[in-house]
Amino acid sequence: MTAILPWHLDSWHCLQQSLQQGRLPHALLLAGPQGVGKSGFARQLAASLLCEQPQATGLACGACRQCLLLAAGNHPDLRLLLPEEGKTQIGIDAVRELVAGNTLSVGGDAYRVFIIDPADGMSQAAANALLKTLEEPIEGTLIILLSAQVDRLPVTIRSRCQCLRFALPSEQDAIAWMEGNIQAPPEHALQLLRLANGAPLRIPALIESGELERHNRLLKDFVAIVAGQISAVSASEAWLKDCELPSLLRYVNTWVTALVRQKMTHCAEDAFPLLQSLPERLDLKLLYQLLDRLHEIQRMSSNNLNPQLALESVLLEWGRIANGES
Ligand SMILES: [Zn+2]
Repeated sequence: MTAILPWHLDSWHCLQQSLQQGRLPHALLLAGPQGVGKSGFARQLAASLLCEQPQATGLACGACRQCLLLAAGNHPDLRLLLPEEGKTQIGIDAVRELVAGNTLSVGGDAYRVFIIDPADGMSQAAANALLKTLEEPIEGTLIILLSAQVDRLPVTIRSRCQCLRFALPSEQDAIAWMEGNIQAPPEHALQLLRLANGAPLRIPALIESGELERHNRLLKDFVAIVAGQISAVSASEAWLKDCELPSLLRYVNTWVTALVRQKMTHCAEDAFPLLQSLPERLDLKLLYQLLDRLHEIQRMSSNNLNPQLALESVLLEWGRIANGES
């Protein structure tokens, strides 16, 4: 059994205590950004409840009959409700099927666990179908809802769950954890973490998809624009062949934010060493203006946007700012 992530320990201990005192709620809402480890936590909690002989920490033993069934992926008392392949929504039929036939208590100390991930992916009708079960909880059943966008969940659902908030770990905690768990050279750790917006569990997918290499290629161009080695227009053209506009805007946002941080703290930006080579004269006010411009474009609907023109305008402005022209 994998250990509990260090930044989840408080929540874990808290739930284990509730369990020992017989006060575990019937429904839990795990809320927090993508990549913070909600889904692993939900599975660890489910395993803990199903296990016949959990360890002192509450973690499942990994060896009993229940744990073996779980490891084989067909434990009858754990039901996962995820969107169907290629879809983002969870429909009413899936929720009905989940709750139907599960109205009887499992009996004894046994538990049954439903995991709905992401809960905000439920259609309105699906959420209504679940509501009845939340209002009349089934003894011995824990429903775990996961959401990175809690505001999109109906208030009626939210108010019937105990909410556990999962914040992003501190950079220090995240990097310490990465050392033993992520296959990447330590000098790339901070950069990867920033590219993952601080969410450590997004990093393996970033590495696998070659995002680090792509990012470094684009960052080189971003710096080359300042020296006039590449024009904003040809950089935009080349970038859009490589990547979608939203991802490109996110990159630029990350770099400009890093420059602002560097400017404000007077500390060299370790995550992106290339940025350290930029001239000192960057004006903080103009960098903020560029961030505003980026946010404005990011908010615009993609229907009204010409990607080439939008990116060009950002990179032209960047070139001007970096060369001290307002
Ligand atoms: Zn076990």
